[in-house]
Amino acid sequence: MFESKIIANASGRNWTSILWLSAMHLGAASALFYTSRANIISACILYFVTGCLGITMTYHRLLAHRTFALPKALEHFFVTCGALAMQGGPIKWSAQHRMHHASPDTEADPHNSHRGFLHSHLTWMFTYRPQFDSRPKILRFTRDIHCDGYYRWLDTGLGQFLPQIILACVLAWIGGFDMVLWGICLRMVLVYHGTWCVNSATHFFGYRNYPTADRSRNTWWVALITFGEGWHNNHHAYQGVAEAGHKWWELDVTMMIISMLNRLGLVTKLKSIRNIKIHPSSVQSGYLPIG
Ligand SMILES: [Zn+2]
Ligand SMILES: [Zn+2]
Repeated sequence: MFESKIIANASGRNWTSILWLSAMHLGAASALFYTSRANIISACILYFVTGCLGITMTYHRLLAHRTFALPKALEHFFVTCGALAMQGGPIKWSAQHRMHHASPDTEADPHNSHRGFLHSHLTWMFTYRPQFDSRPKILRFTRDIHCDGYYRWLDTGLGQFLPQIILACVLAWIGGFDMVLWGICLRMVLVYHGTWCVNSATHFFGYRNYPTADRSRNTWWVALITFGEGWHNNHHAYQGVAEAGHKWWELDVTMMIISMLNRLGLVTKLKSIRNIKIHPSSVQSGYLPIG
């Protein structure tokens, strides 16, 4: 996740990520001692804003896959929501996700599921690996995103931490320190595990609608906690369209929001599954780097 230039030892351990994730899990556990209705509501709202609007809708479907477009100011707002999930800046996040789609479940995949559930869920972020983390490699996959100065700033340490600190101050002002534990630490840990399950669980458990060459699967409970991302076999097969749910029962809350924004006239360049003929022979190959 984070750049590890500051704290990384000779073995390449990414201590920035390890220490940050440990601290957030500790904060999340502490939050449970301060349960209140206001704290739960604040965490739920921020779970939706950062997890659904930020990561799923904007980091993933808009930036990484370009399945639709929004007015630039609105795109910047939703990308800021994604940055508040503290999963790295939009450029690095999109680059590593595109690497995953380019070579899924191989040694060229940052969270190769053949290395085990825990590796694809979490520990792949604990080591700095130049082939996935170096700036030239990241730029090779994200030239279309890197041209935006605001996104370059969000990829810096200051760009990652400053919005979070401002949010923490607002929560402290509204509800005190215990609301910070719920709205920042517990909420962030829950969004983390939801996103991480898309990298891990959906490459291990569930059913397949399409015969993709990777191990991707549709996992209903991951779709529930990630607002539609659990229909991952569908997504690997048709990563260039906005929908992740393809059958009528595959609930895709994120697509419902994109459709709502579309009805409001805010969405352009929408790439929909309705416009292509679904057939196993038309399953897409991996994302190819630009340039
Ligand atoms: Zn995948
Ligand atoms: Zn994807």
